[in-house]
Amino acid sequence: MNPETACIHASRDTTHSTGAVCAPIYQSATFAHLGVGRSTGYDYSRLQNPTREQVERTLAALEGGADAMAFATGMAATACLMELFNPGDHLIASDDLYGGTVRLFDRVSAKNGVCVDYLDTNDLQALAARITPSTRAVFVETPTNPMMHVTDIAAVKALLTGRDILLIVDNTFLTPYFCRPISLGADVVLHSGTKYLGGHNDTLAGFLVAAQAGLAEKLRFLYKTTGAVLSPFDSYLVLRGIKTLAIRMRQSQANAQAIAQWMLGQKKIRRVHYVGLPDHPGIAVSRRQATGFGGMISFETDAPETALRVLERVKLILFAESLGGVETLITYPAMQTHADVPAERRETQGITDRLLRLSVGIEAAEDLIADLAQALED
Ligand SMILES: *Cc1c(COP(=O)(O)O)cnc(C)c1O
Repeated sequence: MNPETACIHASRDTTHSTGAVCAPIYQSATFAHLGVGRSTGYDYSRLQNPTREQVERTLAALEGGADAMAFATGMAATACLMELFNPGDHLIASDDLYGGTVRLFDRVSAKNGVCVDYLDTNDLQALAARITPSTRAVFVETPTNPMMHVTDIAAVKALLTGRDILLIVDNTFLTPYFCRPISLGADVVLHSGTKYLGGHNDTLAGFLVAAQAGLAEKLRFLYKTTGAVLSPFDSYLVLRGIKTLAIRMRQSQANAQAIAQWMLGQKKIRRVHYVGLPDHPGIAVSRRQATGFGGMISFETDAPETALRVLERVKLILFAESLGGVETLITYPAMQTHADVPAERRETQGITDRLLRLSVGIEAAEDLIADLAQALED
């Protein structure tokens, strides 16, 4: 099934009796048993819920995994995933991760005895050198947030083959519409479903997709035990969002390409980080492992004052955290998403007070460019 079709039909419940075209919202905490030892297959909504199962089936199908679990947020998914590890375990992670993930690793996982090392996961030599006997996983975000570094997923996998080290990929930015990390060797795919999957800035969600049944079983146990599951109504909203994932991703990318190109000619913009620009260092790898570059751009203005002025002046574009929705949003990573990342680490990564990040929505590119142009005027 092609992804466009899978977005709409992968989860169709062929057993229900009404013929409802859209997933019914099973707003029930618990389910009655038919008799002693006779369950309908549904016992309690933390364990199973028919609406949530539909969105989970959709994600598993889109990512090509054995199982998918739907969480209340992306961070809940990551926190549950970290329960796989024990005190003394060592992880290697991309050095330019989502700020909330860094906060979880440094302030919660560390306290639990799990040590996370950060490096450029596309530097395969450095990565190989950092592996120790206690390394249990490599955690990759690609492209990274906000600097848009690309990691070669299959090359990292090749390095890990034959070792007991999981490859985890945060696929929030590209979604399975543009990239399927499991087909490149990932063991677990993670999503903030709040972003492109939901796509409308109206709900929070998260997903873990496991490539293999054995790992899926371990994660299912942690999932039902820790309990941050997605509610039936939010499951419905994410299912509805995914139906238009393909056309939203295409439009967002076309807009991003046009805006990135236009930015190159602006005198108050020093650098543009967009994977789809011909001189982006990750473009070749991206072409190999993904079918699109996505809709995220970050750019460096000439001065902190310019960055602040743009944030004050945009009219159509909203100055708001988050990404991946139909509305174009602009953020100030140094002050917002990455405020909790230590200042010196931020600076060495290029997350300066001149850097802005744009999540390009599906409005008309022309209107978005006009808004940015007026915001950049003297
Ligand atoms: C937003 C985000 C998360 C966290 O997801 P929430 O739904 O906000 O908890 C994780 N990774 C990436 C890349 C994100 O953009």
